[in-house]
Amino acid sequence: MNKPHIVIVGAGYGGIMTAVKLQKQLGKNEAEITLVHKYDYHFQASCLHENAAGTLHQDHSKIKIKDIINRSKINFIIDEVVSIKRNSKKIKLKNKELHYDLLVIGLGFEPRAEGTPELDEHAYSITDINSARFVREHIEYNFASYANAIKKDESSLNIVIGGGGILGVEFAGELINQIPVICREYDIEKTQVHLYMLEEGKSFLPGFDEKLVHYAATSLQSRGVEMIHNAKLKECQANKVIYESEGKEHTISAATFIWTGEVQANPVFEKAGLILKNKKIEIYPNMHTTIDDSIFVVGEYAYAVDENGEEVLPTAKKALEEAAVAAKNIASKIRNKELISCRPVKQGVLATLGRDDGVAAIQNRRVFGWKAVLVKRISDNYYLFQLGGWQLLLKKGNFHLL
Ligand SMILES: Cc1cc2nc3c(=O)[nH]c(=O)nc-3n(C[C@H](O)[C@H](O)[C@H](O)COP(=O)(O)OP(=O)(O)OC[C@H]3O[C@@H](n4cnc5c(N)ncnc54)[C@H](O)[C@@H]3O)c2cc1C
Repeated sequence: MNKPHIVIVGAGYGGIMTAVKLQKQLGKNEAEITLVHKYDYHFQASCLHENAAGTLHQDHSKIKIKDIINRSKINFIIDEVVSIKRNSKKIKLKNKELHYDLLVIGLGFEPRAEGTPELDEHAYSITDINSARFVREHIEYNFASYANAIKKDESSLNIVIGGGGILGVEFAGELINQIPVICREYDIEKTQVHLYMLEEGKSFLPGFDEKLVHYAATSLQSRGVEMIHNAKLKECQANKVIYESEGKEHTISAATFIWTGEVQANPVFEKAGLILKNKKIEIYPNMHTTIDDSIFVVGEYAYAVDENGEEVLPTAKKALEEAAVAAKNIASKIRNKELISCRPVKQGVLATLGRDDGVAAIQNRRVFGWKAVLVKRISDNYYLFQLGGWQLLLKKGNFHLL
């Protein structure tokens, strides 16, 4: 290959780590590398629920991309991917078109609940820094409106979280701790505020064992989260949420509905003719797609199975492992060397329940309370170290004692 052009789209966990690894592994004369991302910063998605609840300022989760990449090796373009034309090896961005020889897809998920179009209009989601800030400001705005209104509308103080997976539970844990703070700010009695969590399945935190789920539910309920399971979302309007449970329809008056449930594949993939499996892109263990060996996929949309053939769920750790393999294989491809395989192992599970509480299962051991939070802090800090060394760790690391 004659100085190939490698294009990486999306600078989330998978995309940015691929870029950082490639800039170390490839010499300037071996390849041209371009990174395309929506913003001039990378963000730690694993902290977004804290940004949305207002317990951590969003600036803390942002990392300027120019501070991490070596600009003599990587061209950085702030733009948005619109489509991928595989036949001509071109990527259409909003503002320009790029040709690629090798492409790395690291785009994140799109929030959506199938069959509930009103979600687009009335539901909030937590997918990036701007959406997290919007959720926080929307909640504060409603509390402020309530405090100032002559005719009080109780729905302003009701918040519904749709989806009882990790994101829903983590957000509920942060928000329920923050509600007394917001109430003090706007002179509202905290008993007037209701935080509901709806889960369609019969239990919260799918993938967690019974004891962990029980611990999490008890912790959240004791702080006031009203957890409703077997609740199928039917409709979401500006001031109400309708769900069905045991054949009956129920309505909650609420000005805030945050959807954290099912996500959909980025529409760019389907249009590019990539083969999807369970809404993810089918890949070989060496990380390139089954249909096109010039396209690698890392992170959220790389369909991976463990040694038992079970799907490995997307996590930051999975994205990082895949990024390391993708970068190594891209360098090998350029140097005509053999490619290696990514061997995903079923990882543990972890959900924080606020600043000092959480649950986790790590190597078949259950972890409860502050110890689970500590595991998450260590893993987040280690990530910063991998990405930008001591400098980034000292700048952005979370060293707060519990
Ligand atoms: C609130 C929250 C808490 C989480 N907590 C944890 C946790 O504690 N531990 C854990 O392991 N995982 C956690 N996760 C999951 C983890 O963040 C994801 O699995 C991980 O981010 C996936 O990495 P990725 O690189 O595939 O995608 P992402 O990190 O989502 O990055 C994709 C990037 O692509 C950009 N992008 C999207 N579309 C375009 C486009 N068209 N053009 C250009 N750029 C685009 C996006 O802005 C985004 O920055 C959490 C997720 C959330 C939302």
